[in-house]
Amino acid sequence: MEPDISNLLTKLASSGLSYDYEKIMRAFHFARELHKGQFRKSGEEYICHPIAVAEIVASLNLDTDSICAALLHDVIEDCPDKVNLDTIRREFGDDVATLVDGLSKLVTLQLADKEERTIENLRKMFLAMSKDLRVIFIKLCDRLHNMRTLDPHPVEKQRLIALETMHVYAPLAHRLGMEKIKTELETLTLKYLDPIGYNEVKQDTEAKYGKSRDFLNKSQELIRQKLTEQNINFSMEGRIKSVYSIYKKMYGQNKSFDEIYDFYAVRIIVEEELDCYTVLGIIHENFNSMPGRFKDYISTPKPNLYRSLHTTVIGKDGIPFEVQIRTWEMHAVAEYGLAAHWRYKDGVEDKDGSMQKKLDWIRTLLETDRDETDPDEFLRPLKFDIFDDETYVFTPKGDVINLPAGSCGIDFAYAIHSDIGNKMVGVKVNGRITPIDAPLNTGEIVEVLTSAASKGPNRDWLNLVKTSEARNKIRQWFKKQNREENIEFAKAELERVLSRYKKALGDEEKIEVLQNVAKRHGFTALDDFFNTVGYGGISLSSLEQKLRDETDRVLAAIAPKPKDTGETAPLKNAIRASSQAVMVENLENCQVKFARCCNPLPGDPIIGFVTKGYGISIHKYDCPNAIAGLNRPEDKDRWVNASWMVKPERSTVSYAAQLNVFARNSLHLFADVSACLAEMHVPISNITSHTKADNLILITLSVAITGTEHFELIASKLEKLPDVIRVSRGAVKGQNS
Ligand code: MN
Repeated sequence: MEPDISNLLTKLASSGLSYDYEKIMRAFHFARELHKGQFRKSGEEYICHPIAVAEIVASLNLDTDSICAALLHDVIEDCPDKVNLDTIRREFGDDVATLVDGLSKLVTLQLADKEERTIENLRKMFLAMSKDLRVIFIKLCDRLHNMRTLDPHPVEKQRLIALETMHVYAPLAHRLGMEKIKTELETLTLKYLDPIGYNEVKQDTEAKYGKSRDFLNKSQELIRQKLTEQNINFSMEGRIKSVYSIYKKMYGQNKSFDEIYDFYAVRIIVEEELDCYTVLGIIHENFNSMPGRFKDYISTPKPNLYRSLHTTVIGKDGIPFEVQIRTWEMHAVAEYGLAAHWRYKDGVEDKDGSMQKKLDWIRTLLETDRDETDPDEFLRPLKFDIFDDETYVFTPKGDVINLPAGSCGIDFAYAIHSDIGNKMVGVKVNGRITPIDAPLNTGEIVEVLTSAASKGPNRDWLNLVKTSEARNKIRQWFKKQNREENIEFAKAELERVLSRYKKALGDEEKIEVLQNVAKRHGFTALDDFFNTVGYGGISLSSLEQKLRDETDRVLAAIAPKPKDTGETAPLKNAIRASSQAVMVENLENCQVKFARCCNPLPGDPIIGFVTKGYGISIHKYDCPNAIAGLNRPEDKDRWVNASWMVKPERSTVSYAAQLNVFARNSLHLFADVSACLAEMHVPISNITSHTKADNLILITLSVAITGTEHFELIASKLEKLPDVIRVSRGAVKGQNS
């Protein structure tokens, strides 16, 4: 029999929507002509497939162009020599051509290849979707029909298509809220991936349903009676969970068939939203409800727009069942998801940017996984890293904030408003206090905690934020804040960088270096330069090379000294100790370690001691142990000259040092000290303290610093703290030596 589209036309006519039947007929004839002589695996004419797809598309209430595109969706792929996109555009217009183009591109999607390939294609798929969401709707219908007609294919191919469907299409249908299509896709998938399990569950389900139909009927009868008494217009159906979801529960959560208690469901559809709550009240009046199972998706829709009231109650014979209550409109969305929204909401034109907003929102929706309450997925769907360069989070009010992946709470706060960021004192993610620099994940609800007492952003935030927006706003803040503090901060930071080069720069030379660098950045006044560096307008890392260059240049201008200018005597035949930072006279490739008693730092005059078996131990020249040792005649020959190597490229190396902070004890002392060190990026590996008389305290910190200059800088910073009296280095009397 000649295939025709009378079924499709009937379906369209009964939808009550208006269609361009002439155009649809033309598309049909066009496709039939092109597919002539082609057959499906089942032996039927190929055109049957596009017709069937168009019928499914029609059930989604999509428009004329979607129906046409469904009829034409395979012509480019299957008949490339006979037709091209231009022909379709000429015959059916831009919209149909775009849809067919999008659909043709998706044909190449094949899971048989590597995962990358799939994801690459998924990307294309989403790109196509971004142009027109109808492409995805039609593609899902296409896939559904292919799944329905998978039987004639070889087992191998069945598995591949089923896998792809499970990984890609079913999750997609779910994200788009097209539950009806999703459920059927999943069930069919299961049928081909685990035929035995599928049949078992199916048989068990049917048997159980048969046995307990009575129970369900009785419960429904009671509901019907009560609702009628209240004059509520409603429609009701009793149903059981899909084979797939029972299967998933059994194999995913390792439950036996009898342990699945949410087996039955009754769905009640009413006219008005208010009726939903009335019905809920009546249900709860007449049945005992199971605690913790009530969900109001009407006031809080699922991300895929699903809305309904859910409750689980205990029916006759103590059997629990779920009741879903919704309006017809909610029902349409529940079954067809976004597709249901599509037709009646604004069309494809983008006059006021509303389309873009909508697409942004769809992206959000596709990525959001909040409703995946079931952690044990039966084959975990392919990770959708389509949008992995972006993160979508919600404000407590439910607004979506789009941030680059890896953004943290600080980025979020500044994305809302700079005032929020500047007053930020903490962040709650999904209701829990979380570190402000923890990366946010898509779907999380983020709440910024602010305080009027906040002193403003921390400079460290500049390194923590991901977005330039946040960074700029933080800089802006520092720019507006006290210039003095910026200058102070920049001076200290630049000093620290310069001190790492271990070149003997006098104060004058330092200023010369800094002035040169400032000039290179267009600053004539050094303080302006410091201010800019201070608020982060110029990053320190971008200055490093220039500082280094200028240091070399300034030093080269001074009469070059052949040797290190340290206090140790010039060394002859000095050989560098391999992989170490010091040179030891007359010794080649010796092991060097730093004495624990004095923790020498670059800049300290040092001396080496040849140990028995541990190489050279480096002491400070004035270390009491060294002084005592030098006076012991029997050890005299074992002391050797040593000096620091001047090697700027190794200047980042830090050395263990001990800081002794003598202070008045106060509530904030420890916090101030550690904050001060943190601000200077000085890592602390240990803190001990000894309380002395009269509220005085000695804090001993094990830190890592780059040299004596660095120490001086740290000490001067610490000594500026209100309660700190004095800072010294190394072991103190009464401490371990
Ligand atoms: Mn097809």
